[in-house]
Amino acid sequence: MGDEEQVDNGAETTSVEATAALAVDDTPVRGMSDDKTGGIIAALSSGVRDLFARPLPPGLHLVATPIGNLGDITPRALVTLAQADRVYCEDTRVSRPMLARFSVNRQLSSYHEHNAEAARRDIIARIEQGGTVALISDAGMPAISDPGFKLARDVIAAGGEVYTVPGPCALTAALTISGLPTDSFFFAGFLPQKTTARRTRIEALASVSGTLLFYESPHRVAAALEDLADVLGERPAALARELTKKFEEVRRGTLSELATGSAETPPRGEIVIVVAPPTEPDTSEIDDDAILAALREVLPDMRPAAAAKSISQKLGVPRPRVYDLVLSLKNQPAK
Ligand code: SAM
Repeated sequence: MGDEEQVDNGAETTSVEATAALAVDDTPVRGMSDDKTGGIIAALSSGVRDLFARPLPPGLHLVATPIGNLGDITPRALVTLAQADRVYCEDTRVSRPMLARFSVNRQLSSYHEHNAEAARRDIIARIEQGGTVALISDAGMPAISDPGFKLARDVIAAGGEVYTVPGPCALTAALTISGLPTDSFFFAGFLPQKTTARRTRIEALASVSGTLLFYESPHRVAAALEDLADVLGERPAALARELTKKFEEVRRGTLSELATGSAETPPRGEIVIVVAPPTEPDTSEIDDDAILAALREVLPDMRPAAAAKSISQKLGVPRPRVYDLVLSLKNQPAK
């Protein structure tokens, strides 16, 4: 990349600045000798220099940034952001100070829901002319729960290249520390805000045979957990909040335990809900007759919906199945 282009694109960072920025805080750390500190800084410095020596290939570079802890930035992320012809972000007010912490003082362009279509056209034209464009989101991996997906799709459709500079992502961070199965999982994004739509969506996910993951706002988390417990039954789950930040916390328990806990002590900050897959052998072993027998015991004293909820939680059977059986009982001709 020539000097002229760098000035034009507002790329003011040099490899030396980016290298120095990796040593974010040089106050002595207990248990860390100068030898160790020096070795790590030297290794990072040489890694950054090697990265700067290689020009970025033309195309769209999806660059992950920290979800809280600035120490999670990668050398490749910094170098890509320093080198790209243009850097797009969701909100310049969020990304500018974050990048400034690493001395990556770039002119930033916005790419968000409201200008996405026009910005996509500009980005694709730039890439078609052999340019390099980096995209970051407010936090984490761009294209996960943000409009970055459409940009990647359209760049590919226009014959451009898309590269990943992977790194922090709330979804994988939460999954891996949840203690729930990781071999197969389904990321369901944000649940609908309204109760009816939310329950319908959860019902559609009830038969997914993998761990479920949801992003959720702290204002709705208790209601969402209650609906998850009602519809999915007593599954093990985890609520991971403020990951990599000062108040990082993981609450583990059954869905209804987490729902009760969230109603009593509302969790604050950014949240991921992780739900274990259905325990298929257990629920399939419970035949309809056993569920019907349990229902007949409680139905005289309970409304149908409450009876379905209670038996679904007691037997660990999804609520829609129990509710269908409640309806079948109601529809039986009186003897
Ligand atoms: N692109 C991001 C990623 O890679 O994770 C996600 C963007 S999405 C719009 C924002 C949501 O991610 C938040 O509402 C929250 O559910 C989740 N999230 C982001 N940072 C988090 C953190 N530090 N701890 C827990 N959840 C987080």
